[in-house]
Amino acid sequence: MSASTPAEKQRSIVAVIGTTGVGKSDLAVALAQSLKSFTNASSNSENASCRRQEKVRQFPAVVLSADSMQLYKGLDVITNKVTEEEKGGVEHWGLDMVSPGEGGSWEVGKWCNEADKKVASLPASTLPIICGGTHYFIQHYLFPPPELSFDRSESSSTSSKSAPTSTALRWTPPRPLPLIPQNIAPEMVRLLETFWTTKPEWPHGLMTQNGEGSTFEISSSNSSRPTLNDDAQLLALHHLLCAIDPKEGRRWHWRDGRKVRRSLERWWERGGSDDIPIAVKENVNSGDTKAGRQARFRTLIFWVYEPLETLRPRLDKRVDRMVENGLLREIAELRGIAKEIYGTTESTDHTEGIFQSIGYKEFASLALPQRDSLSDPAYKAALERTKLSTHQYAKSQLKWIKKQLLPAVKEAKELGGEVEVYVVNGGHKGIAPAVDILKVFMAQDELPKPEKIGHGDAQDLLELLNDPSTGRVPDTTDRQHINARRHCDACSLPGQPISLSLNEWDVHVKSRLHKRNANPVKRDKEEWIAQQKAEGERKRAEREKLKVELAELKLRPDQHDTIV
Ligand SMILES: [Zn+2]
Repeated sequence: MSASTPAEKQRSIVAVIGTTGVGKSDLAVALAQSLKSFTNASSNSENASCRRQEKVRQFPAVVLSADSMQLYKGLDVITNKVTEEEKGGVEHWGLDMVSPGEGGSWEVGKWCNEADKKVASLPASTLPIICGGTHYFIQHYLFPPPELSFDRSESSSTSSKSAPTSTALRWTPPRPLPLIPQNIAPEMVRLLETFWTTKPEWPHGLMTQNGEGSTFEISSSNSSRPTLNDDAQLLALHHLLCAIDPKEGRRWHWRDGRKVRRSLERWWERGGSDDIPIAVKENVNSGDTKAGRQARFRTLIFWVYEPLETLRPRLDKRVDRMVENGLLREIAELRGIAKEIYGTTESTDHTEGIFQSIGYKEFASLALPQRDSLSDPAYKAALERTKLSTHQYAKSQLKWIKKQLLPAVKEAKELGGEVEVYVVNGGHKGIAPAVDILKVFMAQDELPKPEKIGHGDAQDLLELLNDPSTGRVPDTTDRQHINARRHCDACSLPGQPISLSLNEWDVHVKSRLHKRNANPVKRDKEEWIAQQKAEGERKRAEREKLKVELAELKLRPDQHDTIV
């Protein structure tokens, strides 16, 4: 079996998706274990304790963890990793792959390539069960958009055979520089040619903050990505993106360096802006651009579901348990790693790698280590922030499933893919029905109707799959439209543009700050000064009055004493 062969199309695969804390891992393990008793019915080992003693690889299934934080070695508490006991003897892939000290993170393409190698290395009789909350990985792996190539490691100049070092994880252009707009300044072209290297050539005209046009030294940093914490550099990068791809540029705040950079990388990967007619783009096969998202496997998806109302209290309890299990110790450990990578903990890029873990940023104001951190007033606030962030994360995961993953499933089915989604309960209640469905799937028998089985809300949640009028996967243009931002020239300072989303914009233009900045002439200055003066007078008079009253109050007890 050659590791380079892509997984065969008809291979069966199972995915377990759902929000954080809903019980995905338990279901994945139970499914893997059920296969053992199913395929090896003769052993008939119903005894759970007996099963636990069986060795890894005895189950004809492997769990592939699709979790962008659990890729990091160690830090088991903050990343909510399954324990050895919870793995139940089932082999788990995708955990502890990268050392957080090396910096860097696996982008979706890297994860998909590595997962593909793993799947290709498994015997045909072994079922891969993808399980995790990074639905972005799962979706791209199962239903890749036409522009995502699985052969990127081959064309990339970094050696794909070496161990995953930080250099290997760094993005390298997959193709020559695409066609760039004519009117772009030569300085910007130089930045474009070098932005992904360790020493980009920054345009001098824009370096208003550090006058000298500081070169962007990475030698002191171990991060795989240059740390973008200099406003002038962030601004230059954003200017560049706006110049080559204005629609993408409008999506991001200029300070959101990682996303701006990623947009530049994607622009390069795509072979240029969509606005450039396809005929002049290189390496674009006009034949497959409309191919859509095909299912790569015979796919069975279990969506472990619980409504947010009942999930939230459970998530809160889990955060409390994380603290009991050593969250604060891991945060202190992570701060040490941040210091190694970024020089100081203050300049940590919270949008990069392991530092995105929920809890890390939220606990930033708590001094660690300290003898009694739990009674520090900063602790309670940090704990609340962590809980809130966890709720928000669960909400965004749910949104992703509904707005991205289900439409992708729909598209794949319409293109002839064999894909089915079942909504099941978390915990024990969900396991038995899922195991039954898996047995039918493995036997290649006719599967039950997904609306009629599993979670009570299944019919509503899966409605989209049966509605021919809706459910297109939002493409880049939609996202560009939804997330468009603009700068407010009236309120911006030189080198510090104020960037607002369109929602914020409506509120902003009505704000006092904006009105004052936008109409400085209209306001009658003299009248305003007079008003300020009058206000000052009034406050002073009030203070005087208070002083007199206080003095009187102080006098009274004395009088009282002398009388008695
Ligand atoms: Zn404004």
